[in-house]
Amino acid sequence: MMSAELSSSPDERFRDLAPWGPVPSPPPGWTWKSLMLKALELAREAAAAEEIPVGAIVVDDGGLIVGQGRNETEALRDPSAHAEMLALRRAARNVGNHRLGNCVLVVTLEPCLMCAGVIREARVQGVVYGAHDVRAGAVESRLEGLSYADGPSPWHMGGVESRACAELLRDFFRVRRS
Ligand SMILES: [Zn+2]
Repeated sequence: MMSAELSSSPDERFRDLAPWGPVPSPPPGWTWKSLMLKALELAREAAAAEEIPVGAIVVDDGGLIVGQGRNETEALRDPSAHAEMLALRRAARNVGNHRLGNCVLVVTLEPCLMCAGVIREARVQGVVYGAHDVRAGAVESRLEGLSYADGPSPWHMGGVESRACAELLRDFFRVRRS
């Protein structure tokens, strides 16, 4: 576990580790990388809007993107307006079901505890993420928030396009601190 002091710097906080673990097949027409590049576009939009640059998409097992989002906590003055939260809400609305059992969430940063809870509630199959969040990541960095409760847990795979995902976050916070 990182010390609080060390992980408070953006350079230390957002890690670009390589992908690991079992890699399930992506939906037809996509690679995990190509899906992450789409999420990265949303993250860049967030940066341009002065929001923390995180982007997320929800894709179903037919390869259709059913929801997407980027951080909007500033604009909406809503502490819960994280990219994955907005993407999951929109996906649920689009498919007309709060259960998204045939979907995977792709997000540029390891989800926080709040989002890990909602990911479980949505029953998504899996979570693919980019950068690891040493300070607040609730998938594997700080705690295993996807599997804290009984019942099925979504699979997860971190580290996809992690360098670009982490760089975007580090640049954003570096500029703000200087
Ligand atoms: Zn979150």
